Amino acid sequence: MQRLVDRLLAAGGVQAGRLRDSGVRRGSDVGLDELHQLPFVTKQDLWDHYPFGLRAAPETDVVCIHGTSGTLGRQTLVPYTAHDMDVWSEVMARALAGAGVTRRGLVHNAFGYGLFTGGQGLHQGAMRLGASVLPVSGGGTDLQLRLMLDLRPDVLCCTPSYAIYLGESFRSTGITADQLSLRIGLFGAEPWTEQMRIEIERLLGLRALNIYGLTEIIGPGVACESLDSEGLLNIAEDHFYPEVIGTDGEPVPDGEPGELVFTTLTKTGLPLLRYRTGDVAAVCGPVPGSARTLRRMTRVIGRSDDMLIIRGVNVFPAEVEAVLLEDDRVAPHYLVVEDRRDSSRPELRIAVEPYSAAEDAAVLERDLAAALQQRLGITCVVRMFAPGHIPRATSGKARRVVRWNHGVAPLPGLE
Ligand code: ADP
Repeated sequence: MQRLVDRLLAAGGVQAGRLRDSGVRRGSDVGLDELHQLPFVTKQDLWDHYPFGLRAAPETDVVCIHGTSGTLGRQTLVPYTAHDMDVWSEVMARALAGAGVTRRGLVHNAFGYGLFTGGQGLHQGAMRLGASVLPVSGGGTDLQLRLMLDLRPDVLCCTPSYAIYLGESFRSTGITADQLSLRIGLFGAEPWTEQMRIEIERLLGLRALNIYGLTEIIGPGVACESLDSEGLLNIAEDHFYPEVIGTDGEPVPDGEPGELVFTTLTKTGLPLLRYRTGDVAAVCGPVPGSARTLRRMTRVIGRSDDMLIIRGVNVFPAEVEAVLLEDDRVAPHYLVVEDRRDSSRPELRIAVEPYSAAEDAAVLERDLAAALQQRLGITCVVRMFAPGHIPRATSGKARRVVRWNHGVAPLPGLE
């Protein structure tokens, strides 16, 4: 961390200025115990200095550029040096190995290639490990299915919503999980719940593990579940040092959820000290007695900015998903609509699909509304739609929460 501080001071710019303002002249002025007193850096800083104002390495050292998917509306670009690519491949190879992928493995990579980091991150990691990688990218579902049947990959990587989509597509052509060769899946880039995991494992007949990351820090590989990490994600904390903070910006104790903050200890292109991710999770120690010594994080509960406040009650979309998918009549396709047409009385409208078209809409809607009321403490309007009515994301991230301020309903029939 001291070397990182020296690098930031030498590079000048926003982060150096803030460090100097807080009395830091050199790396040796700070220790891990004082990290929480150092200034944060945020997405807004990256936007304010778009495209490369926070770059810390000379332009000639940059070997590639990636960008966020722009979930919050504006894009962030990140320059990588050869050293950064090396770190990224290393943490990704580690994530794949921890998930049980071997040199004999064939990784079917249906994460999008392009500016988005998903495709490239998994690609580099699989090659570093010595496995083979099939760079299918997202979309083109027929091709995906054919390649999976012809080449018999043992590993699938994509967003969890696309995994469900692929699984359902197989099912609709009469192919069952036991006819597939998949053993392990690494899924991430968007929030998902335990209920989604059960569904994916059932559909595809594999062990589904969670992989987390964000472009600003490196991309996928910041943290990943391993076969033995007991449901939590091992953080690559030798490269990305984690902290968890409360809404007041102060550290919260281990095990308590808060906003994840990462410091990129080893990156050189765009090193960040105390980057506020906006992602909410808790961090705790390694599995007691395990040979793995890295700290672990829970799945991401939500983003601090996607928390909905409905009539004074805080609601994370992931909680809604958990309630919906606990009901085995409900398929994993839903849309949460924050209806703010009347700003004095915001309403949560939830569109769901049943597995069976024969399901009684009135009964299902009533049961789900009661379960949501009990778990979230608010009344929601639940509407059941025919199977296939709610749009699927066949490339990129699933859009499961939309705001309705005025005009026509975001989903026909939701009025
Ligand atoms: P954007 O913020 O524009 O989507 P990225 O494409 O870099 O930018 O995506 C990073 C974000 O995706 C993370 O900050 C997090 O909110 C989300 N994300 C990535 N992996 C996971 C995961 N396994 N579970 C939940 N959310 C995830």
